[in-house]
Amino acid sequence: MHLPSLAFLWHRNPPLHAALLTGLLLTAACTTAWTEPSSEEQKPSDVSRLLPPGSTAVTLIFSDTLKSQTRVGPLFAKYGLHATLYVSSGRIGFGSGYLSLGDLRALAEAGHEVGSHTLDHEELEDLPPAEVRRQVCDDRVALMGLGFSVTSFSYPFSSDTPPVRQIVSDCAFNSASATGLIRNPTGCPNCPLAETLPPLDPFRIRAVTSIKADWTLENLQSLVLQAEGVGGGWIMLSFHQICEGCATYSISEAKLDAFLAWLAPRASRGTYVMTTHELVGGPVKPPIQSDGGVADAGPFDAGVPDAGSPDAGIPDGGPPGESLPLPNPSLETDSDEDNVPDCWKRQNPGASLGGWLRTSESRAGKWAQRARIGSGPPGERRLVVLQDSGACALAVTPGRSYRLSAWYKTDSQAGFVADYRTSTGNWVSWTTGPDLRLNATSYAHGTWTTPPLPADATHLSIGLALRAAGFLLMEDFALEALAPPP
Ligand SMILES: [Zn+2]
Repeated sequence: MHLPSLAFLWHRNPPLHAALLTGLLLTAACTTAWTEPSSEEQKPSDVSRLLPPGSTAVTLIFSDTLKSQTRVGPLFAKYGLHATLYVSSGRIGFGSGYLSLGDLRALAEAGHEVGSHTLDHEELEDLPPAEVRRQVCDDRVALMGLGFSVTSFSYPFSSDTPPVRQIVSDCAFNSASATGLIRNPTGCPNCPLAETLPPLDPFRIRAVTSIKADWTLENLQSLVLQAEGVGGGWIMLSFHQICEGCATYSISEAKLDAFLAWLAPRASRGTYVMTTHELVGGPVKPPIQSDGGVADAGPFDAGVPDAGSPDAGIPDGGPPGESLPLPNPSLETDSDEDNVPDCWKRQNPGASLGGWLRTSESRAGKWAQRARIGSGPPGERRLVVLQDSGACALAVTPGRSYRLSAWYKTDSQAGFVADYRTSTGNWVSWTTGPDLRLNATSYAHGTWTTPPLPADATHLSIGLALRAAGFLLMEDFALEALAPPP
């Protein structure tokens, strides 16, 4: 039943890369799994369990909100990799040495994770509990108020006593990491060679000591090789300045580039570069203030509505069709609070690494959905209308074509999907649209018209799919039935 859809796609997009076809074949092979999507948001460490046994995960972290970390953007983009930045909100835009809000938003837009590193980079075990709560909870609240989806924490100075860990957990983080706990070429001789997957204690993820300027490329490589050598595990590397010897804790751009160039292709041998959130999973919990209250997470572009560009996507003229009542089209309603919009469903065909977020990075309303695929085996992330017998899925007329539209941002291959239900009650993976125009920085409007609906179709489910490594933000779907051909 999937061959027509593949043939259709192939026909419309002859130069499609073979990898995409592989991804689609995987899609077809994995259709039966769609009824139980593996949602990394729901169960912590699901993602770690998705990694094949013996895999090595490498997380490259950049701490302390330093201006030179803007170089992460272009350097990681060369290899399709993503980093985790641990940020102190009190430092954002504080003088020329620190990252600005614009810097951080650009990095987050490109798919890098923003985690928390306390309000003011304080050594927590020296502080009274109330101040620890303020430093930890209110940093997350502040970062989420700026529109970042924050789940990961890093202890400044590795100051992580058990009471401090408890506060980090109370402040609704999903994980926390401390450096200096993995064997490395300069020390920690009795430490383990890698953190386990999933980590032994998610609130004390053991990271390598902070990398200094005098570390060689071979030193960095040896950390990955030692994890691979013990049958895999998690290596978290902590970087600070990106510069040529400007600080003790620094790495030159050339050395970082060479390390990434060596690291990226190791995905083919089971070593994947992933962010902390990708590996820990779990939902983005509400922002909990230090006084225990729940804060409002602000919109991503507070007070700056983004109109997007009306002509994005596939040109699709013609007379307007009959507008159909798509359920929950702006993805705002989530009555069971599972982060999946009511009447919609996430599908994760294929073996790719990545995840989902219900994000406040919204175009007009309060919420949008964000899918991510990391480096690794091919696969897809799809958000589609729930494939039921008509409570959510739309009753449709065979022979008519349907025009789909949505607002989106993506830095990768993404496009519309349409499935239909037959008169015997089976759902058929029907057809997919071509790739939408790349559009990573502001919301764009994409449209696509399906071929005429087959004769035995009774209901339609539509959505958007991310088809390769990168991200896809989506919201404000619409559906029109076009007039039948004369
Ligand atoms: Zn730090």
